[in-house]
Amino acid sequence: MSICVKKYGGTSVGSIERIEAVAERIINESTPGVAPVVVVSAMAGETNRLVGLSDSVFKGYRGAAYDMVIATGEQVSTGLLSMALEKRGRKSRPYLAHQLGILTTSTSSKARIQKINTDAILRDISEGIIPVIAGFQGVDEKNNITTLGRGGSDTSAVAVAVALKTKECEIYTDVTGVFTADPRLVKKARKIKRLCFEEMMEMASLGSKVLHIRSVEIAAKFKTNIHVRSTFEFSDGTWIVDEGEIMELENPVVTSVTHESLTTVFKLNALPKGPKVLAQVFNELAKESIVVDVISQHEEQSSQRLAFSVPVDDVTKTNEVLRKIFPNIPAEIMEDISKLSIVGVGMRNHPGVAAKFFDILGKIGVPLHLVTTSEIKVSAIIDKKHLEEAANAVHTAFGLDAREQA
Ligand code: ASP
Ligand code: MG
Repeated sequence: MSICVKKYGGTSVGSIERIEAVAERIINESTPGVAPVVVVSAMAGETNRLVGLSDSVFKGYRGAAYDMVIATGEQVSTGLLSMALEKRGRKSRPYLAHQLGILTTSTSSKARIQKINTDAILRDISEGIIPVIAGFQGVDEKNNITTLGRGGSDTSAVAVAVALKTKECEIYTDVTGVFTADPRLVKKARKIKRLCFEEMMEMASLGSKVLHIRSVEIAAKFKTNIHVRSTFEFSDGTWIVDEGEIMELENPVVTSVTHESLTTVFKLNALPKGPKVLAQVFNELAKESIVVDVISQHEEQSSQRLAFSVPVDDVTKTNEVLRKIFPNIPAEIMEDISKLSIVGVGMRNHPGVAAKFFDILGKIGVPLHLVTTSEIKVSAIIDKKHLEEAANAVHTAFGLDAREQA
């Protein structure tokens, strides 16, 4: 008996009709010898509503009580989907993470999965029962309910797939796959057939919302392929696989143009000199689980300048941390900032990619605030008002536009 883990996102279970349709599809597509194991997100919009409720009691609070509240969305969708399967004559059992034993670290709202007990799932499978598992949540050593970070049910699904030793994990969503750019921003974006884990990880960390980054990290580590596909269509989606499985010529040098439409840049213009100060800043931020993104530093005669970007969600916390370390050095906070990036493993062996990227931005007159590169990506922090034009120009210049239909 083989196992297929299927994860359904918020829009896929966004209404009763959609939940019924998902149940129908799970049953219609089940083939003898392949047991489905289902993981679900909360119904679309529900987690935002729950975050809003928490905020209205205690804005910015993070702790066990917060996770307990925001994890409840998945409880409802899990129960409803399991019920919809039973209505159709299939045996199903719903699971919250703590009932199954999805053990995580204790960091509230950013917990990491440490272990998954598969006993109950395997028992269900042997009895012909379809397990439906609440994504996004876990339980820590002290029995607190934890959550994995927004979008985290992808990570639940891949972790379950890895724990069950399956070769692949299906992620059903409201788009037909991963695109060369966000089609809402770049009209000529195309669906990518296959891309490698590393590229997808870069894309997720650079702002692509298709998959939770940690789901790709886990998939890469255990070489579990991910198939991102639509809940509403039957076509093949995008496969995320090991680099070795992709032929060199299959993908162009740049595979995608990715963006984060809103980020925030902090600038500190007169910090005391030396690496110790920098270590202190980033240590204190790390203690608060704040992931700093682009960093730029510049030595002056008697001081140093530092600029770095953080996700919008972490602005308040970042400001608090900086105020604590440097009560007398004001930080300039730049809002309405976007990050535009190009990604592709092909860049490793092709010179001139960064040059071309900056050249295009220069030609259309987009000022750059910060810049960063790695082996397989180049990013620029720009004003949000230039994002759309810049993304389209870069997409065209790197030959990614969909060909016009003749
Ligand atoms: N429901 C959670 C969220 O909205 C987790 C997920 O959808 O993956 O962030
Ligand atoms: Mg998601």
